Amino acid sequence: MNNFGLDIWSNKNFIIQDGEIKLNFKCMPSLLDITNAIRSKDVKGPMILRFPHLIQRQIKTLYSYFSKAIDENSYQGSFNAVFPLKVNQFPSVVEAITTKGKKYNYGLEAGSKAELILAMSQTPNGANITVNGFKDTEMLTLAFIAAQSGHNITVTIEGLNELESIIDIASTSSLKIPNIGIRIRLHSAGSGIWAKSGGMDAKFGLTSTEIIEAINLLKNANLLDRFSMIHFHIGSQMSDISPLKKALREAGNIYAELKKMGANSLSSINIGGGLAVEYNQHIQSHARNYSIDEFASSVVFLLGEIMDAKGVKHPDIFTESGRYISASHAVLITPVLELFSQDYQEKLLNFKKNNPPLIEELKELNRLLNNTNCIEYLHDALDHMESLFTLFDLGYIDLQDRSNAEILVHNIIKKALYLKSSNPTNELEQLQTKLQERYLINASIFQSLPDYWGLGQQFPVMPIHYLNTTPIRAASLWDITCDSDGEIGFNPEKPLYLHDINTDEEDYFLGFFNVGAYQETLGMNHNLFTHPNEYTININDTDYTITNEIKSKNILDILDSIGYNKDSILKKLKTDLLKSDFITEKEKSGTLSKLETFLEQNGYLRTTN
Ligand SMILES: *Cc1c(COP(=O)(O)O)cnc(C)c1O
Repeated sequence: MNNFGLDIWSNKNFIIQDGEIKLNFKCMPSLLDITNAIRSKDVKGPMILRFPHLIQRQIKTLYSYFSKAIDENSYQGSFNAVFPLKVNQFPSVVEAITTKGKKYNYGLEAGSKAELILAMSQTPNGANITVNGFKDTEMLTLAFIAAQSGHNITVTIEGLNELESIIDIASTSSLKIPNIGIRIRLHSAGSGIWAKSGGMDAKFGLTSTEIIEAINLLKNANLLDRFSMIHFHIGSQMSDISPLKKALREAGNIYAELKKMGANSLSSINIGGGLAVEYNQHIQSHARNYSIDEFASSVVFLLGEIMDAKGVKHPDIFTESGRYISASHAVLITPVLELFSQDYQEKLLNFKKNNPPLIEELKELNRLLNNTNCIEYLHDALDHMESLFTLFDLGYIDLQDRSNAEILVHNIIKKALYLKSSNPTNELEQLQTKLQERYLINASIFQSLPDYWGLGQQFPVMPIHYLNTTPIRAASLWDITCDSDGEIGFNPEKPLYLHDINTDEEDYFLGFFNVGAYQETLGMNHNLFTHPNEYTININDTDYTITNEIKSKNILDILDSIGYNKDSILKKLKTDLLKSDFITEKEKSGTLSKLETFLEQNGYLRTTN
């Protein structure tokens, strides 16, 4: 697995060249160059790198396959897309969507009041806004305000009470009325770990009886001409395409029936999101059984076929793909602070004049180990180790002897792994698994990979350099939170091997990929670690620029954000220090300015890496 499954998950967005991972675009900068450029400005800790060209690529791919399918099927309706803000509301992401999506009239989807306000302030003129989720009268009034302010907005109702509120607002105000959509409750459900949005027991949507009721309510209120869309969403990260096809047949027939019932303004079907992203790093499993090509042509073909059979005009198609659009654009870079077995360095050996015979033997094994004898010598070393432990327990050797033995055996194992790395025996592989190396990463899994913590969702991870050498250490990754859940353990079925690096002498950076969807606002401030520093990287033909720096919250701001008063914290710390004894005034003021600097920094570690 020398390329860490890059050919499986990266969709050719990245390539390995000269031992480093590079962006496969224009001037092809390496992630290490970008990382070092940022770190040269005294930035430490984890960082999120955003690549808007990867958002552009996804938007373009989505549109090109739908327009291909529309051509091939002589489909009469149009294709439209909105980006669901819940997937990533960060300013640089929304900006990338609206600027890169401008020529497609790309819109935004909102699922809460704050997201609706965001959509109203960021959607380019004329682009669509769709609104989903549970809504109160205030939120519905906001939608009226958006319509009044010139937005092309469709509010999808999740229940009849929402429709009643809309009718109410329409009758008591003269604000422009938004387009109305109805979310339908499908009997077909999705697939995959996020497939809870479809099915009879789904959280959202109107049953067929309720849909009929809704049409009657609209008719009576003279609002049927505002009813323009039906909507469904069968869940995220759809692994299998067949539930989608079932949903399309169901929704397509509901659409056609409603048209026949006189819903003349009804013109679109919104198929929600769900397009899956490849997170797998290992060949044996795949996240989805369909391509974007198959996805687009299934949607277009099925809807065309149903409408033709029922003699109904082809609807416009809306999609709300979020994960598919934004996952690939963000990479989390984390410095490795420490390898736990780094303590077993050869330079720490401290022999006596007279060492116990077994130690002398270990010394010889270590000195003479080579490709031919390494398995045999390894067995001897492990054997001696056992005996030495027994001798220690019985009081025959001392702590220094034991330390020497541990270092020697560790070295022998490492050397054997190196010597056999191109073709490890079964036994060595098992040994490798047993002798996992723990890599301490300067990041919080709770903050930056919450779906790993909450759902066991794996993200592709690999070093961004040293890729010319074979990684031989079975790796488990530990984050810097004081929580044993902050660990990505070694999984022999999906093994991660990393390099044996001396972090006192060299930097070692891991990249976590496809983290641009859902992770950022889902991330939590456990131990008060906050969103890492982030940067937007624009890549040109001959160079690249680093823009839109957003710094991680500093320590005082973190405390302030959970309700402490940062001024009184600062005051208390200062007074305590100033009234303390036994240091000079000079040292006091030096310490004070140190303290102030610390409080201006974020909580990630700085000194080791
Ligand atoms: C979450 C959500 C989406 C986005 O789903 P993805 O799987 O990220 O594409 C789209 N529509 C609705 C209604 C949603 O709730």
